[in-house]
Amino acid sequence: MPAMSEPIPAKETPCVAVIGGATAGAEVAARLADRGALVAVFDQNPRPFGKIEDGLPRWHVNLRKKEYATIREKLGREGVHFVPNTKVGRDVDFAELVNDWGFTSVVLANGAWRDRSLPIDGIDAFTGRGLVYQNPFIIAFNHEEEPGYDGPRFAYPDGALVVGGGLASIDVAKVLMLETTRARLKERGLEASIGELETRGIPKILATHDLVFEDLGLAGCTILYRRDVEDMPLSEIPEGATPERAAKVRKGRRKILEKAMAKFCFTLEPLCAPETAIIEGDRLVGLGLRRTRIENGRVVTTDEVFERRGACVISSIGSIPEAIPGIDMKGELFDFSDWDVGRLEAWPTVFSVGNVVTGKGNIVASRKHAARVSQGAIEAFLGLGDGHAGEEALAGAVDEEATERVAQAASGVAGASDAERSALLERIAARQSAVGFDGFDAWMERHAPA
Ligand SMILES: Cc1cc2nc3c(=O)[nH]c(=O)nc-3n(C[C@H](O)[C@H](O)[C@H](O)COP(=O)(O)OP(=O)(O)OC[C@H]3O[C@@H](n4cnc5c(N)ncnc54)[C@H](O)[C@@H]3O)c2cc1C
Repeated sequence: MPAMSEPIPAKETPCVAVIGGATAGAEVAARLADRGALVAVFDQNPRPFGKIEDGLPRWHVNLRKKEYATIREKLGREGVHFVPNTKVGRDVDFAELVNDWGFTSVVLANGAWRDRSLPIDGIDAFTGRGLVYQNPFIIAFNHEEEPGYDGPRFAYPDGALVVGGGLASIDVAKVLMLETTRARLKERGLEASIGELETRGIPKILATHDLVFEDLGLAGCTILYRRDVEDMPLSEIPEGATPERAAKVRKGRRKILEKAMAKFCFTLEPLCAPETAIIEGDRLVGLGLRRTRIENGRVVTTDEVFERRGACVISSIGSIPEAIPGIDMKGELFDFSDWDVGRLEAWPTVFSVGNVVTGKGNIVASRKHAARVSQGAIEAFLGLGDGHAGEEALAGAVDEEATERVAQAASGVAGASDAERSALLERIAARQSAVGFDGFDAWMERHAPA
């Protein structure tokens, strides 16, 4: 990591702002810095680990350690300037960043940090009164035992309803089952850690105390899923798979789910869609549901309606990007004019990488997407690529008019003066010093994860 008073880079050095420093952001930052760009990485949090720290549940100890090390190494490379505790859209204006700071290009790598709203009119008014969303729930679970944690905390009641069906909703159900089991064991004077309960599974740990799950008197939580068990996205059906192969993957999904239910003692109610809120006093106490069926892969509603009551409702139906003022939205997503490389009509120097554009909650998918867009488009746009392949990918990925704007923007920036780059470095350093940043290694040591 260069010192803040490093020499100003050569005239032709492209300067790139990356918004979000986690898996995708770190990948693109390192690639561009290695090719000679000056890169500033802005992250809203003190630590740049994104969903590795705040999504992946904390029992993934080794995976988290490995991913932390990868991100740290990439952001620590020469040419990368980390700007923590800086949320674009709140602390730094997006339009200013793109137009005024002096960056050649801006890369969105800000992931998906907002919960999709449960589609029941008025239900969000009960957030904190019976309704909980997955993102803050997992963030609290991951951090609440750390000294100094002062964020929201959630109870882990028995008999919760979890609306979802993806891998994240299974993680939510696991958190509930692990915590309620741990609490019941504690009442009996027995200690069990979340780590050992997760690794060995609830029944095996109970057996070491001559107990079975029923002895705990827990009802357990229930995942409510609008599709059928074998539709759950627990493993992917490869593109162009034969019907036999697809059927095999679908059976595999059922097996994964059954294994998880046996190991963590939660239940799943498939083929039901939440439709109404059941309110008692000022609290959400359950959901009115409509039975669904699947026809040609589509969810079709039926006439059957029923109710499920629960200690609370946790909504885990997907994460979407948080809006950034200045970026047009289309529904709940950014209004990309090109979904392949995350380009925005109004901002020709902007590209996007990782979950913010793929919508895939997957570490490898985020990293691969960042590498592909960097190599296939951003490096070509900045003149850092090895030529043809990159240009072709860029040209093929955008329409003619957009390509023209890209070319103009690129040539405009190529003429940026030393004074402009000097002003940019000063601006980056001013923001770093405003948040107390005093060098990457020192900062990361002071903000080490617990
Ligand atoms: C419950 C749960 C379980 C998961 N389990 C797995 C798993 O087992 N395996 C797996 O592969 N994947 C899993 N994932 C998904 C995986 O963690 C993510 O998909 C992946 O890490 C996303 O990487 P990313 O870099 O695209 O985005 P993120 O990790 O979301 O990074 C975005 C970064 O941008 C920052 N940011 C956001 N907005 C701004 C802003 N306005 N200004 C500045 N900074 C901003 C954030 O702080 C963050 O650091 C899980 C996710 C969840 C929620």
